[in-house]
Amino acid sequence: MTVRVAVTGAAGRMGKILIEAIALNEACVLAAAIERPESSLIGADAGELAGLGKNGVTLVGDLSAVLDDFDVLIDFTVPAATLANARLCGGAGKSMVIGTTGFNAEQKAELEAAIAPIAICQASNFSTGVNLCFKLLDMAARVLGDDVDIEIVEAHHRHKIDAPSGTALSMGHVVADALGRDLEKVAVYGREGQTGARERETIGFATVRGGDVVGDHTVSFFAEGERVEITHKASSRMSFGRGAVRAAAWVSAQAAGRYDMQDVLGLK
Ligand code: NAP
Repeated sequence: MTVRVAVTGAAGRMGKILIEAIALNEACVLAAAIERPESSLIGADAGELAGLGKNGVTLVGDLSAVLDDFDVLIDFTVPAATLANARLCGGAGKSMVIGTTGFNAEQKAELEAAIAPIAICQASNFSTGVNLCFKLLDMAARVLGDDVDIEIVEAHHRHKIDAPSGTALSMGHVVADALGRDLEKVAVYGREGQTGARERETIGFATVRGGDVVGDHTVSFFAEGERVEITHKASSRMSFGRGAVRAAAWVSAQAAGRYDMQDVLGLK
């Protein structure tokens, strides 16, 4: 059965990629495309917007107007918009794939309540390679243990509005969980001035922003005499788009619950 997929933030960088990725996936069809109501693009053809030629799906400004038209909503927008969309999908029993990053603690709690009735797949990074890296990081942290200093460096394009990236934070959580540490307590975000010597159990984050970098992440495990680095470099946003659409097809067949890309890829 073909899965009917809706995309919010359809005119955004990821929105356009998602429309293209849905067109490339035989299990899915684009059923609705939504932007903010004040967008000048409302009424445009979503296929044309994504550079594919007309596909007959008109960009609308109100998710509630198309709630009956789709099975799964893919949302890569901003936390406030994703929260509003999650409340609507939760009420209508529609599954969601959530790629938006940058939720604060209060928004995370509100999201949790809104999605309780539905199946959702949320990931800070939908690329297959990054999710494989999560598995490798867990293994590296367990093998190298407390004998190493762990630092995470990420680089993204100049338009990214949150830091460190959701993927960098997820990598930090994987490593911290493997070592039995609480990331909230051990994370160090950037360093400046008289910082003092490094505490072994801290996990450092550094952020680089510039140009059109799609997303680079390196986690280094520094030991005496050697170091291990696990690096992922995304060269196209299509890696996220393909993964998110794969997740949409998968989550449409799941019972209510919270899933991530590791579930979709069978890596758990
Ligand atoms: P973007 O180009 O700015 O796109 C965001 C889209 O959401 C825009 O079309 C924007 O419309 C729309 N939007 C913003 N506020 C809205 C609102 N209140 N109601 C409805 N629509 C609204 O950003 P992007 O690069 O596509 O990234 C979007 C999100 O996805 C970010 O959180 C990013 O970190 C995340 N992301 C996640 C992954 C992953 O794999 N999980 C990969 C890439 C990006 P306007 O242009 O009119 O504001």
